[in-house]
Amino acid sequence: MDGLMMDYQLNVPAILKRADELYGDNEIASRLPDKSWHTYTYADFVSRTKRLVVALRKLGLEDGDRVGTFMWNHSQHLEVYIGAPVGGFVTHTLNLRLHPDDNVYIATHGGDRVLLVDKTLWPLAAQFIPRCNFEHVIAVGAGDAPEGTIDYEELLADANESDFAYRDLPERTAAAMCYTSGTTGRPKGVLYSHRAIAIHALTVNACLGIHAGDVSLPVVPMFHANAWCFPFASTMVGSKQVFPGPHMDPETLLDGLESQRVTITAGVPTIWMGILQALDANPGRWDLSSIRMMTVGGAAPPRAMIEAFGERHGLHVVHGWGMTEMSPVGTLSGAPGQEIGLSKEEAYARRALQGLPIPFVEIRARGPEGLVPWDGQSMGELEVRGPSIASAYYASDEAADRWTDDGWFKTGDIVTIHPDGFVEVQDRAKDLVKSGGEWISTVALENALMGHPAVAEAAVIAVPDERWSERPLAVVVLKEGAQVSPEELREFLAPNFAKWWLPDRFEFVDEIPKTAVGKFRKTALREQFAQQPAERA
Ligand code: AMP
Repeated sequence: MDGLMMDYQLNVPAILKRADELYGDNEIASRLPDKSWHTYTYADFVSRTKRLVVALRKLGLEDGDRVGTFMWNHSQHLEVYIGAPVGGFVTHTLNLRLHPDDNVYIATHGGDRVLLVDKTLWPLAAQFIPRCNFEHVIAVGAGDAPEGTIDYEELLADANESDFAYRDLPERTAAAMCYTSGTTGRPKGVLYSHRAIAIHALTVNACLGIHAGDVSLPVVPMFHANAWCFPFASTMVGSKQVFPGPHMDPETLLDGLESQRVTITAGVPTIWMGILQALDANPGRWDLSSIRMMTVGGAAPPRAMIEAFGERHGLHVVHGWGMTEMSPVGTLSGAPGQEIGLSKEEAYARRALQGLPIPFVEIRARGPEGLVPWDGQSMGELEVRGPSIASAYYASDEAADRWTDDGWFKTGDIVTIHPDGFVEVQDRAKDLVKSGGEWISTVALENALMGHPAVAEAAVIAVPDERWSERPLAVVVLKEGAQVSPEELREFLAPNFAKWWLPDRFEFVDEIPKTAVGKFRKTALREQFAQQPAERA
């Protein structure tokens, strides 16, 4: 027997409509390039978002069309984030940190018809825009729009809010898109549905207890994994939203956290390490008493950092693990209610673990002999399933083996699961480096290095780094009689890679250990080179 409930569609228009009806007076603040604040109300935000929907239609966009963004975190980015899916289009965030060649691939493969770009990012954007198929480029922010672009403010001014109507979009239609690094081959597109976003915003809000009285500041970029769903989750409940704009340095962030009375914030360990150093160096300079939660994720935060924030600065760190493919939050540790009855020691030990799965995320881990027991000891690759987890990559069957036959997604993270369900990441099966929260492809670097006339073989591995979580190290075998310096190799790589991708360390060896099938045995290399040279000596 079917239940007799309405077939109500879980969609982004419903999120905006709720904010429209209930939270008109609440605020959204963004740091401008000159460091001053731009503040407006949800009513302003909603009105502009509606006009954006009307304007995009007028430009000829149709249902399902991709709307690219190349922007920092700020209110106009939020307008597109919410506005594109509300209009029936698909927001496609492009990553500011990628090499222009990658953005050419991603925007073209994603099929972006329009690009919205910060005027301040024009020098970067101009490196890939001419090579893409954008029909319209819309320039956002103060100042003159570059030639050939449409000015965002003029576009909105020409659109009539009265032409807007909320649509009851089917919840399974696409709402947003984000590409993530593949271990092999090109980046892969994750295509979020309205339903996935709505459910995820609900669960994130429920787990973190986010409400209309909160002030959220996502430092994590909106172009990376939906800024951990903060823009959707905060809009859903009408929290004040604060965006850092282009200013991510610790002091400016701290000034923003203090002056905006932020209650909840989110960032990768690299960001919080910088913040911790600034706090330690300037005791008492910032009043951060408004903060009830700092969420950290994207890479493993050191326990010492979590503890230092708690003990030295009275700041509660909540640790999350997730993936672009998961909308992105998968597990949380230290969220409200998770530490009741624990001693401080127990609580900190728990918080260094990746945490408990959030509702509607199912977990299991698989070792060589099948699923492993939840005993905190047995290691296996974490597999997940749920309504906000990708079921395939967009227009690519290359990585179909990331899903099991019974429909679970293979995360590529090697974990143990504790008897109480806490996940602990032990290692990564994915052959990638994660530096400052962003991926570096080892395969791409290796292939490029092996194109150098002096190089016979090259393997790139991740080595731990206090500031960036990980950095790439290149292990190189030279051709007989050949000679080359690390500087020369870096210069050789430089034109084709973002600067932060270039390996900091090169180790020259006679031979790279191989597996039985001739692949580089990177585990052996990691063991050999994981420590700093001084520590190994
Ligand atoms: P992304 O899709 O860029 O968000 O990257 C997801 C991957 O980042 C995961 O599969 C992990 O390898 C890594 N990751 C994310 N959060 C954590 C965490 N809290 N601890 C350890 N690794 C993490």
